[in-house]
Amino acid sequence: MAKPFPCPGKCVYCPGSPGAPKSYTVESPAVLRARSCDFDAGRQVEIRLKALAEMGHAQDKIELIVMGGTFLSYPYDYQYQFVRDCYDALNGIPSGSLEAARKSNEKAAHRCVGLCIETRPDFCGEEEIRRMLDFGTTRVELGVQTLDDEVHRLTRRGHGVAEVITATRLLRDYGFKVHYHWMPGLPGSTPEHDLELSRKLFEDERFRPDGLKLYPTLVVEGSELENWYRDNRYRPYDVEEMIDLLIAIKTLIPKYVRVSRLMRDIPTKFIIAGSKDLALRGTIRKKMRQAGLQCNCIRCREYGHRLRDGWQVGRPGPTRLDYETWGAKEIFLSYEDANETLFGLLRLRINEGRAMVRELHIFGPEVALGERVEGAAQHQGFGEGLLRRAEGIAREEFGSHELMVLSGVGAREYYRSLGYVLRGAYMVKELQAI
Ligand code: SF4
Ligand SMILES: [Zn+2]
Repeated sequence: MAKPFPCPGKCVYCPGSPGAPKSYTVESPAVLRARSCDFDAGRQVEIRLKALAEMGHAQDKIELIVMGGTFLSYPYDYQYQFVRDCYDALNGIPSGSLEAARKSNEKAAHRCVGLCIETRPDFCGEEEIRRMLDFGTTRVELGVQTLDDEVHRLTRRGHGVAEVITATRLLRDYGFKVHYHWMPGLPGSTPEHDLELSRKLFEDERFRPDGLKLYPTLVVEGSELENWYRDNRYRPYDVEEMIDLLIAIKTLIPKYVRVSRLMRDIPTKFIIAGSKDLALRGTIRKKMRQAGLQCNCIRCREYGHRLRDGWQVGRPGPTRLDYETWGAKEIFLSYEDANETLFGLLRLRINEGRAMVRELHIFGPEVALGERVEGAAQHQGFGEGLLRRAEGIAREEFGSHELMVLSGVGAREYYRSLGYVLRGAYMVKELQAI
């Protein structure tokens, strides 16, 4: 978590409290951790590594998530130093430059296999993208919130839907995974309208995000919305109404989308109105099961989660799902069993013959690099199998001469072992002509 800086946004629902970056409250777990070491990035990484070790998790593959306000609007020197400090902490040794830190992470004990940055759609142009590639970013979480310009205007968001469309296209063209933050219940909306816009998210090829964080609008202490609430200018939906809406949204989710969150991490005592149920995800799952409904998102189908929930898991076979996004074809390859339990996935984007892998992910209990565990989905050749299929499709169906992969710097060695070489920020393999 980066230290607090003013945010270019003036969003009415955003909490602001001294001592926490914009959009976080002082007592959120990540803020508490960050404050305990004065927002020092390296120290925070060390603390997390230690916690992972204590919980018995593998720590050889790490995903970094940069949190706090609009990081890409922070002073550039701060951004570069922050990311370098993260890599240095993973590497266990200081480096002379970000480039050197990235390089040494390729073979470090704690490898950064994914780096995520949260940003606003209007802080996500070519220049920001170049910087994110420099950082080794693989996933971007866009604060989209709604697809209604009037709601954006009313909530003083400072950008509209046009920026969402442009940023999404640009990010995908460069090979990033694109996740959206989505806020049902904003001022100016209704449950019906939110549902209609949620449908549009997946029906309109300009959106179709890879992942979604559902953040039901809350009235949080210290936000402008708190004043609106007290003046009777805003009412959140009833809890039941919101739950029904979230269930309706979940049943719309296509198989290529991951719903990774259903609630913001805000301590209850700061929530003045709106759903205070921090276990909302569980509540919704139970209600959906009772109604015979199912969420088909990636998270709900992941092998590891299902194994823990006592599902019978069968033999995985290759599956493929094609869909269009603005300017390109997306091919979602996976290994699934008969119940659609997901063992691994790959996102291939074909843009005028240019083939790019935006994600390769194998699910299951964590397995340390080079180790094989009975029943574990990881490292049983699923990754290689998916990549070979992508190479074949790119070459044979689209005549691509090469396949590019945007991967975390810590995954580069893996791609090297499969014949890829580093070119700029990408791992690239020449595809033999047939
Ligand atoms: S852009 Fe994000 S952090 Fe900034 S004010 Fe808006 S919601 Fe808060
Ligand atoms: Zn789901």
